Amino acid sequence: MAKKQSTKSPKQTDEVLRSAVDDNESSDEAYSLTPIDRKRAITLIGSAIGLGVMSTVISRIIPNPAVPKGPITTHKIPPVQDGAGEVDILVRMQNELRRALFKPMEERRWLMVIDTRKCVGCHACTVACIAENKLPPGVVYRPVITEHIGQYPHQITRFFPRPCMQCNNPSCVSVCPVRATWKRPDGVVIIDYDRCIGCRYCLTACPYGARTSDFGNYYTEHTPEIQPYEKQPSNEYNKSWSREGHGSPVGNARKCHFCLHRIEQGLLPQCVSTCIGRANYFGDANDARSLVAEMAKSSNQMKLLEEKGTKPEVIYLV
Ligand code: SF4
Ligand code: SF4
Repeated sequence: MAKKQSTKSPKQTDEVLRSAVDDNESSDEAYSLTPIDRKRAITLIGSAIGLGVMSTVISRIIPNPAVPKGPITTHKIPPVQDGAGEVDILVRMQNELRRALFKPMEERRWLMVIDTRKCVGCHACTVACIAENKLPPGVVYRPVITEHIGQYPHQITRFFPRPCMQCNNPSCVSVCPVRATWKRPDGVVIIDYDRCIGCRYCLTACPYGARTSDFGNYYTEHTPEIQPYEKQPSNEYNKSWSREGHGSPVGNARKCHFCLHRIEQGLLPQCVSTCIGRANYFGDANDARSLVAEMAKSSNQMKLLEEKGTKPEVIYLV
C-alpha cells in the first residue's frame, strides 16, 4: 500500500495521468478499422467540416435543456440505522447524502474525496462501476492508475482511481455541438443520450480521458451466445436504457456521473460503497457538518491537472 512518505509531486502525478490518457487514446486507435484511400479521406474530411457547420447551426437552434430545480428534487428518505457504538463512515455518509436530498438541487454540491494512502489498487471500484452501469468493452468510467515512485528496491507504488472530475469549468461541455452535455446545479456533469450524436468532440476536449465512446460491443460477442446479463438495460440518469437493437447509449459518449441514479434514491455511488480500502468519500460539500466538507479542508490534498483550469470536483488526499 502506498504510504504518505511519497515524494512525488502533483506535477509528476499529472504526468502519470497524461501517459494513461495517451494509452487510452492509442487503445481507441483499435477502432480505426479500415485503411482509407485518398478520395475517401477527402470525402470524410468534407463531411466532418459539414458536420461542424451543421452542428454549430443546430446548437444555435436547440435551446439549453431544462434543468430540474427545487421541490421536485427533494426526497424524504429516512436515515439508515446503525448498530450501537461507533457509526460506520459509510452509514454516516449515506445519512448525510439523504440529508442533502432534502435541499433544492442548487443548494447542494456533490464532492468526491479519494484518499490515495488507503487505496490498495484492487480495482474493485472499476469492476463495481462496470456492473452497476452495464458498461460494454472499451467503456470504463473509473480506471485506477498506478504510479511507481523511486527505483527498486526503494520503490513505492500508489494508486489513483480516476472518475470524471465533474469539473466546474468543464471543457467537454462547451464543445458539444448539440448541447447534449451540461453541468447540473448540484455539480454533476451529465450527458443526454437522446441528444448525443456521438461526434466525440467532448472526448477530445476532456484532458482527463474521462469520456469514452460506446461502440455497441459485447464482452461475449465472439462466443456461441451473447450472455443475457450484457443485454440488461442500464439505469443511468434514472431511465432504462436498452442497448439491444443498437439503442442509446450505443453510439454515444459515456462517462461517470457519480451514480446519479443511486444518489437520488439515497444511496452512495457504487464505487464508494464497494471500496474495500474505505478510500472513497462522497457527500455534499455545501453541508459544513458533512465528512467531505471536513476532508476538503485537509492540507495534504491535490487535484489533477489543475493547470488546465477545469476546476475539478474530485479531491485526492496524498
Ligand atoms: S473530467 Fe472531463 S468529462 Fe468530466 S467534467 Fe471534466 S472535462 Fe468533462
Ligand atoms: S475499490 Fe477502493 S481500494 Fe480498490 S482500487 Fe478502488 S478505490 Fe482503490
